[in-house]
Amino acid sequence: MKTKAKISIQNLPVSSVCKQCGRELPQEFFYVNRQTQCLDIYCKGCRKEIGRRRYNSGSWIRKEQRDKYSYLVITQVEDPIVRMELILHALKVVRQSVKHKRMKILEEEANRTDYV
Ligand SMILES: [Zn+2]
Repeated sequence: MKTKAKISIQNLPVSSVCKQCGRELPQEFFYVNRQTQCLDIYCKGCRKEIGRRRYNSGSWIRKEQRDKYSYLVITQVEDPIVRMELILHALKVVRQSVKHKRMKILEEEANRTDYV
């Protein structure tokens, strides 16, 4: 007869994939949300890293938020870590699209000289 390994918390998956680093790790590498009884979507290592990043960039995020992104619903997300991730993603997207636009303008400018 097979005996199951002793698990401290029942009804949880034995392992989970971290949304940050993409590694599949055993459940003890994740924090457990006491309210939902679910494993964290980030492993403990990444969670720590996210917390540190949040702390370090707290001041500029607040400024950016106020200047540019105050209209976004993102700021109403309650979980500060999720909000942080969303904002960082939004910033990345905005930066990329700005770069794209600039390239397009340069391209158009280059084409325009043909008509002159
Ligand atoms: Zn991770």
